[in-house]
Order: sequence, then C-alpha cells, then structure tokens
Amino acid sequence: MKKLIMLTVAVLFGFTLMLGAAPGDVQAKTQFVTIGTGGITGVYYPTGGAIAKMINAKRKEYGIRATVESTGGSAFNVNAIMAGDLEFGVVQSDRQYQAFFGEEGSEWGGNAQKDLRAVFSIHPESVTLAASVDSGIKSVMDLKGKRVNLGNPGSGHLKNSKDTLAAVGIDPEKDLKAEFIKAAEAPGLLQDGRLDAFFYTVGHPSGAFKEATAGKTKVVFVAIEGMGIDELVKNKSYYAKSFVPVSQYPGAMNDADVPTFGVKATFCTSIKVSDNVVYAITKEVFDNFDKFKKLHPAYAVLTKEGMLEGLSAPIHPGAMKYFKEAGLK
Ligand code: GLU
Repeated sequence: MKKLIMLTVAVLFGFTLMLGAAPGDVQAKTQFVTIGTGGITGVYYPTGGAIAKMINAKRKEYGIRATVESTGGSAFNVNAIMAGDLEFGVVQSDRQYQAFFGEEGSEWGGNAQKDLRAVFSIHPESVTLAASVDSGIKSVMDLKGKRVNLGNPGSGHLKNSKDTLAAVGIDPEKDLKAEFIKAAEAPGLLQDGRLDAFFYTVGHPSGAFKEATAGKTKVVFVAIEGMGIDELVKNKSYYAKSFVPVSQYPGAMNDADVPTFGVKATFCTSIKVSDNVVYAITKEVFDNFDKFKKLHPAYAVLTKEGMLEGLSAPIHPGAMKYFKEAGLK
C-alpha cells in the first residue's frame, strides 16, 4: 500500500512537472506565420526570406516564428491568404487591385476579396519579355507563330502577358503556341531551344533572367512598347511605364535599357490576421530599413514613403498603427 501511495505521488509529481515544463509554454506562446512567395529564381522568394529573417531575429520579444513557402505566385498567394492557408504573401500591385475590387477579366471578376489587406509595398517589377536571338523576335508582334511561355496559372504575370498580347491584337489561342509553365522552368527551356520566348513580371536582377542570359543560346530582352501598350498603361491605374536594366545581365544581347511597363511587389495579409503580428512585422522591416534594403539589389530604389504607395486594399490596422507612430501616415 505504502508503495502504491509513493508511486501515485511520484506519478502526480512528474505530471505536475510536465505541466509546468518550459517547452510547452514556449509552444503555446509562439505564433507561427507562413509567407507565400513565388518561384525560387524570382525576387519574391528572397523577399519572403528577408522579412522572415527580421521577425525571427526578435522571436523572444514577439513570440512569432515566420516560415517562407515557394508558391505559384501572386494569384495563388491571394487565394491562399483568403483561404487561411497563408498569413502573408507577396502580391503584384495590379493583382492586389483586381482581387480587392473583383475586377472583371481577372480571376476575381465579380468576386471581390474584401478581407484582403495591404501591409506595405516593396520593389518595382517589370513585365519582362526575353527571346532567343535565333527566334528573330524583335517586338511583341514578332511573337506570332512562336512558342511563348505566358506563365503558370496562379502567377501574377500570366495576366500581364495576356494584357500585353491583347494590347497589340494577338490572340494567345490562335496566333501563337502559348505555354503556361512556371517561370523557374522557362530559362532552361529557352536555352534548350524548346521555347522561343517567355514573359515574367519580376524585380531585377532575378535569378531567372540571369540563368536565361548566361547560357549558350544568345538571349535578348524585347521592348514592350507602342501605341497599344501606351493605351493599356493609360487605361489601367495599376500599370506604369518601366524598363529592364540590362546592365544587371551582362550576358544579354542588349546594349541599352529596354522599355516596358510594370507594377510593384506588395506585402499582403488578411483582415483575420491579428494586429500584433502585422504590427511586429511592419515595425521590424521599417525600423531596420537600411539593413532590409541591403538584403537584395532590387531594393536599392526603396524609400519608406514609397513603400506606402501602390496599395489598393485598405492598410491592415496593425501596419497602420506602426505607420502612425512612425509619422508616415
Ligand atoms: N510577379 C510574379 C508573380 O506574381 C513573381 C515574381 C517573383 O517571384 O519575384 O507571380
């Protein structure tokens, strides 16, 4: 009997110890958040990594642990944030607009994503078209009859490619051999001669275009310009004139920057994500702005004020709290 009592006491004691154990405590307090990005040869992936790095460095203070996921891109990220599968995602500014307002002609036509929230904007992205020199493609019109990657479903750029073609009167179903593969695979296929050209809306420099321009097959950036494109940029508030800085790609067969149009990468979340998490992430990125800017060459042009521009969805209250404190709003 005595033995049984002692055993019971020991078990109870052990149980009490377990309940008070530190690991359980930390687990209960840590909030896990996932940031959706894009393909690993884009700029979204290192961007997610840069943001995660800043917040994870203060894990003890905030109790937030951020992880980064490579995804299909902007449209996928919006839908995953809305479904609650991701807390954050990098999203093209044009796609943020289309999703929040349910713009006709986009994936969200008539289905406005009213719970989408903006946190801040990041680097500029250019709608970029690269072609093999052998294909003879020198303008968007020359894409007729060629094998061209427009982008995977879920990407941000698929819509930019379609808008570009529509602006010059090219029907992707009838006038060319359209492919819908991921941007990470396109450079290899261009180098192998299995693609003539591909579109990718991305910040520069990107791993994808470094890969595309560094192989045996000579590759050239193609200008996206002319009357149709001017009209498009005039009609859509989220598009602006831009260029491809060719000095970033020594292997490319261009000797001057290439005109095109572009958007901005933005950091998005859902109204359902708590204010304290969004506040902490915003604060870490902005308080360590100079450090953040050095994490990728595409951020060279960033200013704190500029990072509040290009947002269509309402700013999340957690981010707004920080912007007010910092005198940015
Ligand atoms: N803009 C592309 C997209 O939204 C992704 C670019 C990147 O990963 O840097 O799908």
